[in-house]
Amino acid sequence: MTRNKPGFATLAIHAGAAPDPTTGARITPIYQTTSFVFEDTEHAASLFGLQAFGNIYTRIMNPTQAVLEERVAALEGGTAALAVASGHAAQLLVFHTLMRPGDNFVSARKLYGGSINQFGHSFQNFDWHVRWADTDRPESFESQIDDHTRAIFIESLANPGGTFVDIAAIAAIAHRHGLPLVVDNTMATPYLVRPFEHGADIVVHSLTKFLGGHGNSMGGIIVDGGTFDWSASGQYPALSEPRAEYAGIALHQTFGNFAFAIACRVLGLRDLGPAISPFNAFQILTGIETLPLRMQRHCDNALAVAKWLKANDKVSWVNYSGLEGDANHALQKRYSPSGAGAVFTFGLKGGYEAGKRFVEGLEMISHLANIGDTRSLVIHPASTTHRQLSPEQQTAAGAGPDVVRLSIGIEDVADIIADLDQSLAKA
Ligand code: PLP
Repeated sequence: MTRNKPGFATLAIHAGAAPDPTTGARITPIYQTTSFVFEDTEHAASLFGLQAFGNIYTRIMNPTQAVLEERVAALEGGTAALAVASGHAAQLLVFHTLMRPGDNFVSARKLYGGSINQFGHSFQNFDWHVRWADTDRPESFESQIDDHTRAIFIESLANPGGTFVDIAAIAAIAHRHGLPLVVDNTMATPYLVRPFEHGADIVVHSLTKFLGGHGNSMGGIIVDGGTFDWSASGQYPALSEPRAEYAGIALHQTFGNFAFAIACRVLGLRDLGPAISPFNAFQILTGIETLPLRMQRHCDNALAVAKWLKANDKVSWVNYSGLEGDANHALQKRYSPSGAGAVFTFGLKGGYEAGKRFVEGLEMISHLANIGDTRSLVIHPASTTHRQLSPEQQTAAGAGPDVVRLSIGIEDVADIIADLDQSLAKA
């Protein structure tokens, strides 16, 4: 039987990789080198001028990083990718490519707290401006668009609430206004949701979470969907205008459907510099090999835990879109039929003090700031990540005094529930 295209689990193991042609090494080597020897001066000149593809310097590209890029591009169904040092670095390079001073973009309000800070504070220093829209009302994105808007940004599955977003409806609005839709697919991963299939133009990830999956390496990636016309409006000069430093070539004209990934590399990564280390790229590649197995187990465990919490009399509410009757359940079924992800929040009847005692009483589940590890993780936002906010602000951010966020791991679910149970009894 012939197959046109390998399946997802096959791509997770093989995409981008081949036995090393020199040594026969089956696993992608860690190319722990800063630089690569040129064949001669002609070769060097053609690499620097973008007339030939090849390795120059690990800040710009590296063979270990290249396998990671090809693999994630294949899993997402994009044309090319660029791996960088962290999820935040990926977001920085995307907007560096899209924006000029004075421009703005419209972002969903339901977002990872670090992204809210990056967009709302640090980006101001570049004179880039964010306008917040109501994630659950796609029309609220449209009313914020003006002549200086250059993109719309959403998370496919929002952190920390664990709610799915109507990607297709927001993509339709973006395209009606000639804008690209950028989707952070960190929480869902391409195992659950492939945003390009719903109209996204660019996908970003924090590889630090489920893709790496083992809590051991920071990384981020930008994936180019290859479908956006960067020359149509004249508003994306980094892509459509001739580049003086590259002998006057225009990146979109020269590189076509992978021009965005190239621009992020040869302008943003070259000049801003947040390269991923070859070692981290290797660790994340290894993690991705088991992504389909891990993600399904994460989702199955999370659903079992959510059901158990819902039935517990110390718990006032559970927000998990995988539960029948949850307000987000219909979108979850539509966008992510395989599962509802592993990160969700619930409320304790005992409020702030109970939340603190509960987190401190856990024995196996780790109290820390990350998500998407094999290990189950917990945080009480009101006493940690959101403690500088007023009680009203905490509640608006979904981090009220009673809220606990869980990232459910792939341990035996009975052990996860046993740990929650003993700590709830003490809280
Ligand atoms: N996007 C989401 C959804 C995240 O949860 C995070 C980190 O928690 C980031 C982006 C930022 O990624 P990093 O910590 O790798 O910079």
